[in-house]
Amino acid sequence: MPVSAPAFPVTRVSRSRLDAVDFNHLPFGEVWSDHMFSARCSHGEWADAEILPYGPIRILPSSKALQYSVALFEGFKAHRTPPGDLAVFRPDRNYERMNRTAARLAMPTVPESMFYEALGELLRLDEAWTPGPEQGSLYIRPSYFGTGASLAVDSGTEFQFLLMTCPVGLYFQPGKRLSLTTTRKYVRAFKGGTGAFKPAGNYGSTLVASAEARSAGWDNVIWLDGYEGRWVEECGVMNMFFVIGGVAVTPPLEGTILPGVTRESALVLLDDLGIPCEERRVSVGELVAAADAGTLQEAFGCGTAATIAPVGKLGLEGREIELPPTGDDSVAHRLRSELLGIQTGTIEDRHGWLVTL
Ligand SMILES: *Cc1c(COP(=O)(O)O)cnc(C)c1O
Repeated sequence: MPVSAPAFPVTRVSRSRLDAVDFNHLPFGEVWSDHMFSARCSHGEWADAEILPYGPIRILPSSKALQYSVALFEGFKAHRTPPGDLAVFRPDRNYERMNRTAARLAMPTVPESMFYEALGELLRLDEAWTPGPEQGSLYIRPSYFGTGASLAVDSGTEFQFLLMTCPVGLYFQPGKRLSLTTTRKYVRAFKGGTGAFKPAGNYGSTLVASAEARSAGWDNVIWLDGYEGRWVEECGVMNMFFVIGGVAVTPPLEGTILPGVTRESALVLLDDLGIPCEERRVSVGELVAAADAGTLQEAFGCGTAATIAPVGKLGLEGREIELPPTGDDSVAHRLRSELLGIQTGTIEDRHGWLVTL
């Protein structure tokens, strides 16, 4: 990341809000760091790049973002490592995925140099907002949307890109395991749709499913394929793994699953740990049969926010299946320790995943 003076103006807050923040009690995504980066693209030309205090933005009511969901986001993390550095985890994967989503929404590419320069400057400015390794991490949220104000049904010619950060706590609570149930009423993604991308609309359109699952006493839903309703795709906003007969299994990326950076990293780390893993389709029927045969050992979700989230109960074909208790030797636990160890710099970054500030 660049160390020279930024190529854009920086307006600092007159008074930091940091003193009022309790790093030991951080609700996810509610406390935002002092500054944000903003840039605009008009007719393919990027301009108005600046860092300014985090706060409201001006957008016309008729903007494409508000009217047609011409909007996307990304999410990744920076951790404090033992020498005191800030280490960003695989920002290149998120940068690339952001531009794949942009292309899917007919939005222009965000320039690479601008992205990394903005990220470097913003993190340097608000570095103190990073919780300690025992407390959590700094979550980085790029947001990119159409600001063109016309009801013409296209993505328009005007766009705004924002980069903001927020300190987040450790999601993991020892002993806490998720309960997840399948839904046949709602479908998250279908071939040719946007399931493999990260448009904001993917979230808005699935919130009712998680809300209904919660009212029924579950933490979230397991998404099934939209054709046969039998193949597991994801859970909530996480990718999914099962451990069946000692093999870690995750559904393959066939266009309806979001290619998670955590999922991709987990596959590499499972291999490193010598745990057999397979990318292949998993049906609800296979899971029920494995549970009955006693070979369904574990299930876990994975994503940036939660890293690895173990599952304790599954709702499959109208049955409630309790998964066996798991300890420190579970695949989920070993994977999480390895991933977090690399992210926080206590385990060697042997794959070159960290970008250090
Ligand atoms: C963002 C997201 C994930 C997780 O992706 P990571 O890159 O690991 O954070 C998984 N599923 C869906 C639907 C998502 O939107």
